[in-house]
Amino acid sequence: MGEKTTQEKLALHGGPKVKETPFGTGKRFGFEEVKELIEALEQNTLFYHQGNKVKTFLRDFNDLYQIDYSVAASSGTAAIHVALGAAGITVGDEVITSPITDQGTLIGILYQNAIPVFADLDPHTYNLDPASIEARITKRTKAIVVVHLAGNPCDMDPIMELAKKHNLKVIEDCAQSYMAEYKGRLVGTIGDYGCFSTNDFKHISTGDGGIVTINSGDLDDFHKVHAFADKNYQRFSNMVSRAMDYLAPNYRMTELQGAVGIAQLKKLPAICGARQRYGDRITAGITGLPGIRPHRVKEGNRSTYWFYMLRLDESELTCTRNEFSKALSAEGIPNTIGYIPDVVYMQPMFQNRQAYLNNHFPFDLTGITYERGLCPNAENILRSAVRLTVNEFFTDQDIEDMISGIRKVTMFYRK
Ligand SMILES: *Cc1c(COP(=O)(O)O)cnc(C)c1O
Repeated sequence: MGEKTTQEKLALHGGPKVKETPFGTGKRFGFEEVKELIEALEQNTLFYHQGNKVKTFLRDFNDLYQIDYSVAASSGTAAIHVALGAAGITVGDEVITSPITDQGTLIGILYQNAIPVFADLDPHTYNLDPASIEARITKRTKAIVVVHLAGNPCDMDPIMELAKKHNLKVIEDCAQSYMAEYKGRLVGTIGDYGCFSTNDFKHISTGDGGIVTINSGDLDDFHKVHAFADKNYQRFSNMVSRAMDYLAPNYRMTELQGAVGIAQLKKLPAICGARQRYGDRITAGITGLPGIRPHRVKEGNRSTYWFYMLRLDESELTCTRNEFSKALSAEGIPNTIGYIPDVVYMQPMFQNRQAYLNNHFPFDLTGITYERGLCPNAENILRSAVRLTVNEFFTDQDIEDMISGIRKVTMFYRK
């Protein structure tokens, strides 16, 4: 057992910690945001249609993304609901999506009284597997909500092909994937609609907020999305119509959010650049270690790492995933086990098939049930994953320390 000489005493067992310096931190907001906020207030209105801040925010976003149309919303959850509403998703429709996501992906589906159907994931990108999507398509299927998890692009070509073949809408949940690229194309510009979140935990923050991209380039489509986020008010140029053609919520963004968004958007390319570099460096630093499966980004794609999630193969290690995680924490490398505690379909809402208090609508329209084992890859991902924080304020040294910590713990526990 020559390798044993490469073992160092774990911090968990009283050895020296790998990470001796604090992780880099920084201020997300500065005078740039303050200036925009003052200007917003001096407009004497905080209403998006009268002021210029939300409009400028969207214009800048459109320039960055090279698209014609986008609409602001009050959150990422709202953005997804707006896209589904504008796509015409309605009672009893089935919408295929990912079982590893934020509940914001699911809320709009159920508010439209449509039924979430979960497809399984690629074991290493943690994104929807096109073959599993295809297997879940029925006569009721109307849309696919893809989630580009953790900044890593989904396999869009085969997904768009399936959508075309079966006449399905594709909504991209880009809440975690600003400026990520699939084969050189920005995610959020590939499906029918792309939905972004500016909640406080995302790459950029306006406190709360969201954006919907309209990728058809069609003006009527844009108007439909716009109206669905604003109680069906149709506010275009000087024309305002209050015609209530159908049910639509109020998901408007305020000028204060738009103002902060303008300044935040200017920082976005650098934030994404740093995260990409750090995430890719972690992969390079841990590839080939026994029992360690890096967060896979497919060749030709760009991930902007909202987080980094590796998987452990316990058959190559003498420890469990949870012991590994604890040992890594003790080395001064913060991490969490998995991402969410379990696949979303194990949540009480799906297990009890109760989206609304006191009834089982819309689940009872089809009698759908959500069983353990429905998406085995997704379940195994969450059982074996260790999630690391990636942040633009980290330093190169922080990343090297993270890699050293993972290497040290792996070498200690290797078989
Ligand atoms: C954050 C997030 C959402 C919801 O965004 P909110 O702005 O918090 O409503 C939706 N989907 C994913 C994948 C997210 O990470």
